[in-house]
Amino acid sequence: MSERSAQTTDLFIIGGGINGCGIARDAAGRGLSVALAEMNDIASATSSSSTKLFHGGLRYLEYFEFRLVREALVEREVLLRAMPHIAWPMRFVLPYHKDMRFESDTPTSRLLSLAMPWMKGRRPAWLIRLGLFLYDTLGGRQILPGTRTLDLRDTPEGAALKLHFAKAYEYSDCWVEDSRLVALNARDAEIRGARIMTRSKVLSAQREGDLWRVETQNTETSAKTVHYARMLVNAGGPWVGDIIQTKLRSNSQDGVRLVRGSHIVTRKLFDHGKCYFFQGTDGRIIFAIPYETDFTLIGTTDAEHDDPSVKPECTPEERDYLLNFANQYFAEDLSAEDVVWTYSGVRPLYDDGASSATAATRDYTLKVDKAGGAPLLNIFGGKITTYRRLAEAAMDKITAEVPASKGAWTAGVALPGGDFPVDGVAALVAELRDTYPFLTEAWALRLVRAYGTDARHILAGAGAVPDLGQDFGATLSEAEVTWLMEHEFARTAEDVIWRRSKLGLRLSADQVATLEAWMAEQRAQMRAAAE
Ligand SMILES: Cc1cc2nc3c(=O)[nH]c(=O)nc-3n(C[C@H](O)[C@H](O)[C@H](O)COP(=O)(O)OP(=O)(O)OC[C@H]3O[C@@H](n4cnc5c(N)ncnc54)[C@H](O)[C@@H]3O)c2cc1C
Repeated sequence: MSERSAQTTDLFIIGGGINGCGIARDAAGRGLSVALAEMNDIASATSSSSTKLFHGGLRYLEYFEFRLVREALVEREVLLRAMPHIAWPMRFVLPYHKDMRFESDTPTSRLLSLAMPWMKGRRPAWLIRLGLFLYDTLGGRQILPGTRTLDLRDTPEGAALKLHFAKAYEYSDCWVEDSRLVALNARDAEIRGARIMTRSKVLSAQREGDLWRVETQNTETSAKTVHYARMLVNAGGPWVGDIIQTKLRSNSQDGVRLVRGSHIVTRKLFDHGKCYFFQGTDGRIIFAIPYETDFTLIGTTDAEHDDPSVKPECTPEERDYLLNFANQYFAEDLSAEDVVWTYSGVRPLYDDGASSATAATRDYTLKVDKAGGAPLLNIFGGKITTYRRLAEAAMDKITAEVPASKGAWTAGVALPGGDFPVDGVAALVAELRDTYPFLTEAWALRLVRAYGTDARHILAGAGAVPDLGQDFGATLSEAEVTWLMEHEFARTAEDVIWRRSKLGLRLSADQVATLEAWMAEQRAQMRAAAE
């Protein structure tokens, strides 16, 4: 038996990834009533498995994706200003050597092989410069510095690389903590009145006249609930097609192409804060990025992935591909023993009929379906970088069906904890250490990078470490976990150590088990209090 949810909302959103949560925040801020159902944890699928870059996508220029690149480049600085805690500028070092190849099916490589057949698919230096010139100018930078040429001999950037790399180009993009971005959008949506339901799987949705009738099931209690909404948004990411076919039983022809991308994490491989952009002889590119202070993140691959219900995992072949790719550049050879963690995600790309996974468009497509009653919006594709713009574009379509009292508002409005200047991290760290002298520099920085000014609330009133309650290890305290459970929808240890933080890289199995048991106890108490 299903219970009926009390309220009919303007919007019901399926999926708590960055696109669902970004739309929920935007819509709630415009005064619409919003419910969002996520079958697992917030950001449990693609939105915690990205390369974590706010970037224009240098390589998309070779596919002539100028609209997407320009929008993403402009957006980088809008996002930096709104979340200076979880996003920051990063310099990218692109070592040059003459044997770099194009991906063979880009429009640029086809043009060049006609005009300059003697290049035999090689990517010339002038083309890289031209690309970087466009990259610097298309986006109208104010915060981020432009491109420069770098001599790799006798520099820290060159020291980690093989000797024959003498020259590099250095340009700007940004880093973002992807899963925290989703959690903060969800939190802000909730603050603005949205109802965020995690561990709530949408079983079916059907039109009943002007309304959608949506049935969800709580995956912890198995309880079913019926909700009604004026409009439905399908932001199911890799499941967008599955939702259309099996939950909505629609015969829409739009398809999604699932492309798996895997990353490996090694111990720290170089002693500077810049990221490497490596070009391979197969035309692909990978990044090697400073990660979580003591580690290096290397990725990604592009592999077809047929079934969203198959959990994406980095295969031994993908791991070895990334190691071999990196070994073409790094002075010190890496092997499988150097890999401390891997993760993998599935890109839900709009199926534009491209020949290869690498070539499939990274742009987003929004489709409204009004077949016989209440409207449905299906979301295909998109990037972390363009999530706010995608939400605005989605709101244009949504407010055409369900009018809102307010217009676009998210540009320039900080996410929770992000209400401080772009260059204000050091000052906030100093303030916290001043007020809470027991904090080490690394601990204070971790809190500021995760919570920004909200770190003040987590620490409030503590005079010494024991005041923060149980110590779970690696500076994770009971006060922090309680905050995550009360304000950021965390339910399990995995939510805390892999999505609200990356403390999974530091905590032992025993420490994780202690955290899990403590959180289970808290959940039981919360359930008892609610009954
Ligand atoms: C390897 C890789 C690297 C990437 N790197 C970058 C990058 O550096 N920069 C960038 O800008 N972009 C990057 N991207 C792209 C970006 O990560 C994705 O475009 C984005 O995360 C997609 O978000 P989403 O909300 O559409 O999907 P998801 O995050 O997958 O969210 C969909 C959610 O829907 C839920 N769901 C599905 N079915 C149901 C149901 N029946 N009921 C309830 N909930 C349901 C799922 O559990 C899931 O959480 C990368 C992607 C990959 C895979």
